[in-house]
Amino acid sequence: MIKILVIILILFFFFFLPQKTEDMKWVNDENEVVVKKPFVIKEPIDSTPIEQVKNNVNTPTTNDWWKYPDVIYETKRNGNDLLVLVNKQYKLPSTYAPSDLVRASNSGIRRGENYYLRNILITDLTDMINSANSEGIDLSIVSGYRSYQTQVSTYNYWLSKNNNNVEYVDTFSARPGHSQHQLGTAIDFSSSEIGDVLGDSFSNTNASKWLIENAYKYGFVISYPKGYESVTGYKYESWHYRYIGKENALEMKNSGMILENYLRSKN
Ligand SMILES: [Zn+2]
Repeated sequence: MIKILVIILILFFFFFLPQKTEDMKWVNDENEVVVKKPFVIKEPIDSTPIEQVKNNVNTPTTNDWWKYPDVIYETKRNGNDLLVLVNKQYKLPSTYAPSDLVRASNSGIRRGENYYLRNILITDLTDMINSANSEGIDLSIVSGYRSYQTQVSTYNYWLSKNNNNVEYVDTFSARPGHSQHQLGTAIDFSSSEIGDVLGDSFSNTNASKWLIENAYKYGFVISYPKGYESVTGYKYESWHYRYIGKENALEMKNSGMILENYLRSKN
């Protein structure tokens, strides 16, 4: 019995292994034998909770406003489109990144050297910052463009900080692909009034009051307004604005719709 096993093993080494190695060699034009290494693509580690991506159709919303719907779709418009709807139901492809990212400091906004934004909004942001400054309002940026991979880290960071409480984290942090920050047109503002921190204290600043009154004139609108959690799926974020262009922002304001509903009407 053992003899048979040994013979099988020897046969294996003599015939099978050399053949496998031969598979990975070929002779190039110079008659040299080249050993071909297996080509392995290193996929980025993505810990996004598994979601099903299907074709775009309408589905009912849930009563628990922070929850993601059972079925997730890809965004109907391209990520470059200023009116693309990105929310808990519609996610951007993990491969999407804007092609015209520039430093936010090009607009003159304070702390802008730390962040990137799309070039398409820089002129309007410059005008907005100058206008605010001329009225004694200080604005700074505390977050701008975030890649899909950065959002993986961001979401996981909040999970780790909150005992892996997914339901709680989903009230304020977007899962990868679902963040407007991946568009390069979303800005988290802060102000010297609150020492440039990111968070709820921004709502009591003059900077916040000024943005509520004026941001739309420069194409910026608040994404997650107060009292609309059940529509947007996020807690009130006084600091988070998205650029949709001056004409669209004016149309949205005149329609009386919040950004979420305005974009739903366009997607
Ligand atoms: Zn934000």
